[in-house]
Amino acid sequence: MKTLNLSSKARRTQEQPINALIAAALANPKLINLAAGLVDFETLPVEEVAAASKAILSDVRRGRAALQYATTNGLGELRELALKHLEELEGKPASTMRLSADDFVITNGSQQALYLIGDVLIDPGDIVIAANPSYFVYTGTLTSFGANVLAVPADENGMDVDAVEQLLERLDREGRLSRVKMVYCTSYFDNPTGLTLSMERRGRLVEIVKRYSREHRIVILEDAAYRELRYDGEALPSVKSFDPDNSHTIIACTFSKPFAPGIKTGYTAMPPDLLYAVLQQKGNHDFGSASLCQHLAVEVMKNRLYEKQVQKLKENYRKKRDIMLAALEKWMPANEHISWTKPRGGLYVWLTLPERVDTRGVGAMFNLCVERGVLYVPGDHAYQPDESGKIPTNHLRLCFGSVPTEAIEPGVERLAGVVKELLGTGGDDGAGAPVEAVNAALPKEVVF
Ligand code: PMP
Repeated sequence: MKTLNLSSKARRTQEQPINALIAAALANPKLINLAAGLVDFETLPVEEVAAASKAILSDVRRGRAALQYATTNGLGELRELALKHLEELEGKPASTMRLSADDFVITNGSQQALYLIGDVLIDPGDIVIAANPSYFVYTGTLTSFGANVLAVPADENGMDVDAVEQLLERLDREGRLSRVKMVYCTSYFDNPTGLTLSMERRGRLVEIVKRYSREHRIVILEDAAYRELRYDGEALPSVKSFDPDNSHTIIACTFSKPFAPGIKTGYTAMPPDLLYAVLQQKGNHDFGSASLCQHLAVEVMKNRLYEKQVQKLKENYRKKRDIMLAALEKWMPANEHISWTKPRGGLYVWLTLPERVDTRGVGAMFNLCVERGVLYVPGDHAYQPDESGKIPTNHLRLCFGSVPTEAIEPGVERLAGVVKELLGTGGDDGAGAPVEAVNAALPKEVVF
């Protein structure tokens, strides 16, 4: 057969490692899967969605509307509810951000909004600034558009915005500012680190981006996927709330994490000129997200089933997070080079190991963990290379979302057992020769 000439975009698109991890979770019930970023199975709102479906479909007029096409930007009623919900989360009227329901688009999960925004902004060679580490699915998407993703460090206060400023200053000096299109930031309980952008950094990020928008507008894409899954600490206003003109910021929100990923519905607010461009592309994609799912979202919002579900999820995930953190404390060897984040929300803990421990999918640790029946996401997927082309290989992501509560501690115990084994009994100071990669064959279902 002759070669299929795929487009340059298709050729730039790499298989998402996470696909294989999710497949592994579903295929092998014995594995304790601390990798898959799925939500908890037990708390999925089956009865609530059954009641909402019944309410919609037992009314013929409403049922017909739910089974008909909707508009490209989404149901007006859902956009109104999304606006009201955002006002409640911010604790201030939408008018202070110059937002109305017309500034929202309803998409197939927030992922579609992230995709469409990248699609309308990025030409090959354009620059996007992101944190190191970042949500690897989206940096993969950006790379498929040909973006040059330049990363700045992150610390316990989230993305280092001083580093963003320094990078913009450098790009300006080098005459490359015109290529900078956006800053991507997961502002709440980040995937993969679990960390949140601090209050001081929020307004400052907007101020920096505005200052460097001299020739063209640079925008901040605020990914707020985990915002509502907050277990302790104060509720912070969004980055978007620091942009009173709705000119430089986008906020991408979703029903996936705080309600159910199965309805795959997200809502995103953005500047009107950007929205116009996004809607043209969404027209090409699907000319509107599934009406039935949008009607379900309306129903659960109106009947406060949504609010109750968020409450229930928060209690459940808070417990799971606490169990994971306690298990790490109990089982990880004492070693000054071993640390992990203590997230106040979201679904993830980010673990740092001594540099000589190679956490990559091809490394000794991953193979041993698969052998012992525990899975994690290797941290290297979430990094962009530094100036010298290097990527750290001693981090990993743990998710306490979908793993059953009683399996969290055994999973961490297995993981810690492998770490102890690799470091030698009792652990060490992290110095010494790198652990040699064992190229044992991975089970079929754990292919990257
Ligand atoms: N942003 C982040 C940071 C995520 O982790 C995810 C899902 N894993 C998404 C966006 C997209 O989720 P959805 O499309 O289901 O809204």
